[in-house]
Amino acid sequence: MRKYKHVKKTVAVIKEVRCNKCGKRIDIKEHEDGCYISGCSVEMRHGYGSKYDGDVLRFDLCDECSNELAQSFKHGSEIKQEF
Ligand SMILES: [Zn+2]
Repeated sequence: MRKYKHVKKTVAVIKEVRCNKCGKRIDIKEHEDGCYISGCSVEMRHGYGSKYDGDVLRFDLCDECSNELAQSFKHGSEIKQEF
């Protein structure tokens, strides 16, 4: 049997997101199940022996900067639909 007590917790929620490349504010839409960020969030995992040797770089990009980055690739990136 379990007995519970009620406690108040402080939860960190995203207040503001800015594009790491240009500094533009990225729109956030709050919903019951969380929030949606209109730009893109990138995690770059670097392998052993690379310049960042196992580090993970995390940053946010606005739509314009993410499109500019994708367009700069010599070979197009793969697109995976998530919703
Ligand atoms: Zn940007």
